[in-house]
Amino acid sequence: MSKIRVLPDQIVNQIAAGEVVERPASVAKELVENAIDAGATRLAIEVEAGGRRLLKVSDDGEGMMRDDAILAFERHATSKITRAEDLTAIGTLGFRGEALASIASVARIELISNMADSGAGTRVIIEGGRMRDVKDAAHPRGTTIVMRDLFFNVPARRKFLRSEATESFHLTNLVTHYALAHPEIAFTLTNNGREILRAPIAKDLRERAYQIFGEEFLENLLEVDGGHSQVVRVRGYVSAPRDRRTSRDAQYLFVNGRFVRDRLISRALSEGYRAILPHGVYPAALLFLTTPLEEVDVNVHPAKTEVRFRRNAAVADAVRESVRSALASAGFVRSEEPATVPATVPGTAGILPAASAPARATPLSTSIDSRTSNDAQEPLGFRSVPPYDTDRTPATEAPATARAREINDPTGAFETGSEFNQEPLATRASLEPDAITADDVSAMSSLSGQSAAQDVSALPPLASAEKFVREVPVESLNPGIRPLGQLDESFIIATDGDGLLLIDQHVAHERVLFDKYRALEASRPAESQRLLLPETFDLTPAQAAVFDSVSGELENYGFDLMRLSGRTVAIKATPADLPASEARNMLAEVLDTVDAEKKGTARETVRDDIAASLACHAAIKVNMSLTPEKMRWLIDRLLRTSSPTTCPHGRPVILRLTTKDILKGFHRI
Ligand code: ADP
Ligand code: MG
Repeated sequence: MSKIRVLPDQIVNQIAAGEVVERPASVAKELVENAIDAGATRLAIEVEAGGRRLLKVSDDGEGMMRDDAILAFERHATSKITRAEDLTAIGTLGFRGEALASIASVARIELISNMADSGAGTRVIIEGGRMRDVKDAAHPRGTTIVMRDLFFNVPARRKFLRSEATESFHLTNLVTHYALAHPEIAFTLTNNGREILRAPIAKDLRERAYQIFGEEFLENLLEVDGGHSQVVRVRGYVSAPRDRRTSRDAQYLFVNGRFVRDRLISRALSEGYRAILPHGVYPAALLFLTTPLEEVDVNVHPAKTEVRFRRNAAVADAVRESVRSALASAGFVRSEEPATVPATVPGTAGILPAASAPARATPLSTSIDSRTSNDAQEPLGFRSVPPYDTDRTPATEAPATARAREINDPTGAFETGSEFNQEPLATRASLEPDAITADDVSAMSSLSGQSAAQDVSALPPLASAEKFVREVPVESLNPGIRPLGQLDESFIIATDGDGLLLIDQHVAHERVLFDKYRALEASRPAESQRLLLPETFDLTPAQAAVFDSVSGELENYGFDLMRLSGRTVAIKATPADLPASEARNMLAEVLDTVDAEKKGTARETVRDDIAASLACHAAIKVNMSLTPEKMRWLIDRLLRTSSPTTCPHGRPVILRLTTKDILKGFHRI
């Protein structure tokens, strides 16, 4: 009996309809989903010319009988739902019955399908939506669909296809997603005859991840397992904080086996790394959320890559907390939130949780059977970024920058090309500006209790320091602060009449710059540096939606941006203080923040967001050695700011150890 039915109009009207064929990868997505829905255990994807010339997907799924093979190309013809109620609990990847119809209308399609290994199968040829031929053809159980000449009949669309390399990237990314979601299915992807990915049936996600990414990627992964099955279970892997990327490309998010691009999840993921990864740096993640089907609405987006959760906040909490506890059990953060925030300061980088932790992390690689490795296959490399802007060398910086720096830094204290650019990388992960927080500090100081018995050997007794080192009230600051030197090339050690001061150099500079930008924009635009070659920046759809409303503000701060076709923006100039390598991160951060706060946000807030983001990206980092003049310059400028003791994100800038407390500590009083 045939399985496919054309949906009645009243269901059709409830379906999030729209264009699904945007590029070869979107065609591949639909074909791969169909194969998975058909119960395939083997899936072979073959492409030529980035999928523009040819895209072929073969599966060994249930196949189709002749009537179905023809009906499949009708609009709203599906075997996956029959009633409107089915839309509330969708268990298949497809359900709209539109994909094959849409694809067939803009390409030449050949479909061969058979429901058994014996007997004749059916071959259907359809071009630009017109059925050309239907006849018998041999095919083992399963289906092969070949798409040729995408957009052959829509030249305007063909023009918008990107380069072969770009389209291939999207295809590979797409297939990688599905391969990760389905270890029980064997995947191969060939591009112009070259094998890009081969993943035999794997026993679980970790084996599949190993097949795809190789051993190195796995070494840094921490296992996530949290949430509740009534609302959402969160399982998978996230990277250790030292593994850092400047984009979310290495985040693979799935909801009930469906890959999604979901801001709620990616934001919650980042929140899990709060205080241990700075802005603009993202962890790698393979996260699988499982919810009861009625907890999630997948009928939101034509390409089905967005979902809506019935209990948004609960999902975000579950993701954040699951990630947080994965980081905690690997020793990167403390498991519970501290009740109070003691104003202590960590002793040295070496005792920070990030540096002392790895013993308890369970690297995946240990449990992977080396026989599963495929030596011939290159792992799909994820280039992780070096922790800092090490590429900010004099050679890459336009001369204008140096001049601009001079203007805003008359002492030359922060001139480019000096030691700021060649910081040692070794201990960075633990000394990231955002890495040291009250949480971490209190984690260390409270670890002397019994709960942390096993850690005690690794940690100095900080309980006494906790009482002594305090945040500094603005009123108590006096202008006679003298720098003595640096601690870990990150904190300035200084004295004043009342004792010792520790100044976090990154946040101090951040405060100085923030005040400068907030003062500047009222009168005249900030200085900018022209890029020798404009760089392009691809906006996400969400960023594109807010771009026009903030581009004017960004220009006030020294950006010169030009919207090119589609969602591409050319960056022609950047703020003078900003290292060129930070420009993209900053743009992305600002656009994401504005979007998160929704359009219509007050101008003032947008300006503050931009100023804070710019200050953070342009400020000197930790792990940079500073000369005494530079330290003096910084302290002097800091004292003239509106709030020398807190940074624009609310963290303390200065901590004090009073002479009195020192005397007490030595039992002199
Ligand atoms: P949907 O997947 O939303 O149902 P499609 O247009 O993608 O809509 O496919 C239409 C129908 O064709 C599916 O419901 C399914 O019954 C059938 N079909 C498509 N591809 C395959 C396949 N590879 N194997 C078996 N059946 C398929
Ligand atoms: Mg489908």
